[in-house]
Amino acid sequence: MNKAVSKVILKEGREKSLLRGHPWIFSGALANMPDCKPGQLLPIYDAEGGFLAQGYFHPGHSLIGRVLSRKRGPIAPILKERLQSALELRKILFDPEITSAYRVVNGEGDGIPGLIVDQYDGHFVIQVHTQGIERLKPLLLDLIKEVFQPKTIYEKSSSSFRSEEGLSPFEGNQFGKTPEFLEVRENGHPFWVSIPNGQKTGFFLDQRNMRALVASLAKGRRVLNCFSYTGGFSLYAAAGGAESVVSIDRCKRACMLAEKNLALYANHKIVCADAFETPFSDSDFIILDPPAFAKKRKHLDSALRAYQTLNERALRAIRPKGLLLTSSCSYFVDEQTFQHTLFLAAQKAGRNVQILSKHLQAADHPISLFHPEGGYLKSLLLFVD
Ligand code: SAH
Repeated sequence: MNKAVSKVILKEGREKSLLRGHPWIFSGALANMPDCKPGQLLPIYDAEGGFLAQGYFHPGHSLIGRVLSRKRGPIAPILKERLQSALELRKILFDPEITSAYRVVNGEGDGIPGLIVDQYDGHFVIQVHTQGIERLKPLLLDLIKEVFQPKTIYEKSSSSFRSEEGLSPFEGNQFGKTPEFLEVRENGHPFWVSIPNGQKTGFFLDQRNMRALVASLAKGRRVLNCFSYTGGFSLYAAAGGAESVVSIDRCKRACMLAEKNLALYANHKIVCADAFETPFSDSDFIILDPPAFAKKRKHLDSALRAYQTLNERALRAIRPKGLLLTSSCSYFVDEQTFQHTLFLAAQKAGRNVQILSKHLQAADHPISLFHPEGGYLKSLLLFVD
């Protein structure tokens, strides 16, 4: 490796993945170690000196760089353009009268690696995952205000990615004061959300389509919603005409909000307990949407065991001709592995199971075709004989 420079030069032939549209650069592809601060924006050249892109770099990391632009010049207009096209897409996807809570920027999926922006009825939440975005934060906050005209902006940067980046967690108001509780609509259903106190940015927006699917199938069924958080699936099931709905979650705060969200439904019951220690009731529709069991690759084996145990229990408990909607949001568990885990669970439970449909995260969490790593959530709808 040659001496340090404030630009990035790739080794011969190592520009291919970047030219194919992938935004990540690994340290092994670099001919020169850039002389830069963590997260600094640098131009990237091929071995012949041809300009390729601009990206931010974090020396010492294996995933050393992420591309922000394929053009030269100031980054502000490029980021503004990215935010504007992200907004255009959401305008296509949502009528705010029907759905007022959705993700507006999904990191690499919207061309801004390291940045998440969700909005709840005009109240915005940002999550900064990398040093590169941390450095650009003042600019991005200005651009978010200009492009989206938010009522408020709250920052909720507390993910585990941050410590790997050498960043400490940060939470707080960045613009105006975000209310503690907000009422939003999702597919016309009203929900109370707490941005500051909730998990993720307040709501599991990525499961919106699965909740709608549940509503369409719940009529007359006894639904068990396991890992229910603030009652998202439960409310849709109740509204869809379920005979009864039981929600299980161990988080007290989430259970309290679920209680509030389902206050209108007398046939709903909450069990605030550990799902692994709670017997599954006699149901004919079970929803399993657990947290990511494999947050790191090294946890994959134990995560798969947990998915198998959980699904096996559900498959044993479901009444004949029942339904199971089962999800995994673990990035390290791919679709094929997840399906195989269900196969093992069904075998052990001795149930005949048919796949009715397979699903990904909701459309406001787009996955760039050039960055398939952006997919993390998968769900299977199963018919259990
Ligand atoms: N389905 C929900 C989101 C689920 S997120 C929705 O649509 O909104 C995962 C949930 O699992 C969180 O609310 C978390 O509190 C809960 N949880 C995590 N581990 C648990 C356990 N062992 N038992 C019960 N709940 C658990």
